[in-house]
Order: sequence, then structure tokens, then C-alpha cells
Amino acid sequence: MSPDDPYILMPGDAFTKIEGSALSQGALVLRHAPADDMYVVDTVETAEGMRFRTTVSREYTALRAGDAHRAAQWIRVTSSDAHALHAVMSKRPNASIEFEDFKEMVPKVSDPGNKLGILVTYNSELASELQDVGAGEFAGWAVRRSGVHPLRIAVEPATTGLTQLSGKWPIEQLANNSVMVVGCGSIGGAAVQALAAYGVGNVELVDPDRFLWHNILRHILGKESVGRFKVSALKDHLATHWPQQSVVAHRLDAVADAHYMRPILDRVDLVLCAADGIAPRRVASHLARRARKPAVLACVLDNGAIGEIIRLRPSPRYGCLLCLRQHLADRGVMDAEADQELDYGTGQVHRPMTAVPPDLNYVGTLAAKVAVATLLESLHGDHTQQLPGEHAIFGLRPAGDLAAPFDLNHVGDVRWSSLPEPRASCPTCSPG
Ligand SMILES: [Zn+2]
Repeated sequence: MSPDDPYILMPGDAFTKIEGSALSQGALVLRHAPADDMYVVDTVETAEGMRFRTTVSREYTALRAGDAHRAAQWIRVTSSDAHALHAVMSKRPNASIEFEDFKEMVPKVSDPGNKLGILVTYNSELASELQDVGAGEFAGWAVRRSGVHPLRIAVEPATTGLTQLSGKWPIEQLANNSVMVVGCGSIGGAAVQALAAYGVGNVELVDPDRFLWHNILRHILGKESVGRFKVSALKDHLATHWPQQSVVAHRLDAVADAHYMRPILDRVDLVLCAADGIAPRRVASHLARRARKPAVLACVLDNGAIGEIIRLRPSPRYGCLLCLRQHLADRGVMDAEADQELDYGTGQVHRPMTAVPPDLNYVGTLAAKVAVATLLESLHGDHTQQLPGEHAIFGLRPAGDLAAPFDLNHVGDVRWSSLPEPRASCPTCSPG
């Protein structure tokens, strides 16, 4: 093969048409997409003189581009020889076989005359040993009188997307789980995307704000979403990229609309809070504890110098967010959340925010990882998903001048610790 050779793409519908045809060989028309120099199977002859265009779904814009003008041929082969040879020759640069020798193996091959003929052979009963050495059901060929050499061909697989993980990752279990995401800013947006990619089947998004120009830099959403409510725009974004996921958008303020949050909490398995500011995080911590649901709180502290993830579980062993902060205050540690009170994300107040986009994306993705590990361990008994603790601090741009446990010195350091026990006087943890 040489880099200048045609690269053939076979959409699933073309595969189905060839597979279902009673012919032993027929015509193809290829569409050439010049931007990336590829040939897409556009039309298949399925019965004598009957040609049908293949269907390529709308989102495959590159595969739908270009003009159909290149005539080609498909041939059904029953012997394994041609496809075994294709696998061997594909590994050798510039390997080719004499036209007459090829014609003995594939007698129906058309004589290309003085031109280049493009041929696709199909072997529906290829032995698994041959598949193991790289042979496929389809093989592409550049046919010249001076010789025949293999072409690369990519065939659309029967399954794409999350179902490819079936049997390798518990997508079936996670498909039944629900997570409420409070705060759909840059950290929350990244977390939502990661939850979908892990296969969490249901998310309920809570955020009152609109997506505005200054959000573009750090958010998974782009310019198309400016002006929209973050929850609605994210719901549409997820529907495009993760169509199997069910998303409910709630244009709610976690603090002002706390009473609307309770019924949502009752039907989800976990709360992931990525909201800016102390108040919504306290509300999430309080309501989750009362609903006896685990919560994962994610934020950046000290203007983006460190990331923090707190996992709160409704256990008598672990206190809540207030208990943790009081425990740290009692030890003379800075109020880690104080700088969150000046909100930078609302579009009203602009504070210099030094956290860079991938750092926020990292915090959101790690928060989703912690949430998914918690679901798998607590609901599905998967002990490979145990975390080292309940409270993680990690270095993004650490200055090294903070008190323990925030005294990280290195980028990429992750420090896990446990949580203090509930305080007897805690309004969240104490029963009643
Ligand atoms: Zn507490």
C-alpha cells in the first residue's frame, strides 16, 4: 500500500446491501471526498441492473460529502486465498501480485484496461484464524494490468458508541443509575460529559444561569449556546453526543429553590455538586444527607491553585461539609471556601479567575470518576472501585504556602484523607 492510494470507507448500509444481494458480483459507485482524499461506497448494484444509493446517517457529515463518480466493482469470493493474501501484502510496502495470478484467484475481476480499477472483495465465511492475523470480510484492491495491490478499507462495525464497552465495563448497571448534577458551569459541564461517557443512564441538571460569552473559554459548550440556559443547552449537547442518556433539565437555584430539590434527590442515586459558592454546596451537602444519598462536591480553591473533591456518605462514620470545615477551622486551617463567595461565573461580577480550562475539566472528570466509583462500589458491590479516602486535594498550580491538608507542593499531587466524624451539634448530621 502507498499513502497515495485510495482509502475506502464502507458504511453499514453498503455492507448490508452487498451481504443481502443474490449476485456474485456487481457494480459500485464511490463518492470521493477530496478534503481528506477518501472514497465512500455510495451506490451498490444489488440485482442485475438494479443500483441503490446507500444511506449514511446525517451526523456523518464527512462521509456524506463529495461527488459520486468513481466506478468500481464488488465480488463475492468463497476461497480464503485472496483475503489471506490481502492481510499478508498489507503489511509489506509496495507488495503487489501479477494481474493474471490475481485473476486465477478471483476470476470475476474486470480487466481494467489501461486504467486503475478499484475492487472490493467480500468473503462472508472467513475463518477465524485468518481474522486473527488481520484479514477482514472485506478487502480492497487497486487493479492494474501491471499488477494488483491491496487497498485499505474500513467497514462500519455493527455496534458503535457505548455498547462497544459491553462486557468490559458495567454499562448495563450504570444505565439504570441516576445522578443529580448541581451547577453546570465549567466543572459541572465536564462532569456531566464524563458521566455520560462512563455510561450513567440518567442525569438531572440543576442550574439557574445562562451561558454567556465569558463562559465559552472554559466550558464544553460553544458559541452556539450563548444566551441559552446552561441546563437546556447541555441537555441538547448530550442528546447529540450520548443519545442513550436520559437528561432532565431543571432551571433551579439550589439555594432559593431548595424545596424543589428534595423530590429530585429522592429519585436519584447520588448528587454531584459543582456549584460555585459556599451556599449551594452547603445545601447540596445538607439535602443529600437528609435524603440519605451520597454526594460528591468538586471545586477549585485558592484561585485555581488546587482542586478539591469531597465525598459525603450518609454514614455515622463520616461528617458533612460543615463538619469538615469546622474540623479544619478548629485546627487553624484557612477557610478553604472563603474565596468562593465572590462569584465570578454569573456574568455580573467579574473576578480574575486564574483556573485554566483543562484544570477545570480535570476536576470535573475526576469528580465524575469518584461519583461512578461510589455507585459501582455501594450499589453494585464492585470492590475494584474502592477509593483511598473521602477527601481529595490535588495540585493544579500549587504555591506551596497553604496549611495542611492543602499544603501541596507539586502539580499532579493527589492527597486523599478521611473525613472527621459527625459533630454532635451539627444541624445536618444530627438526627431530628
Ligand atoms: Zn455535619
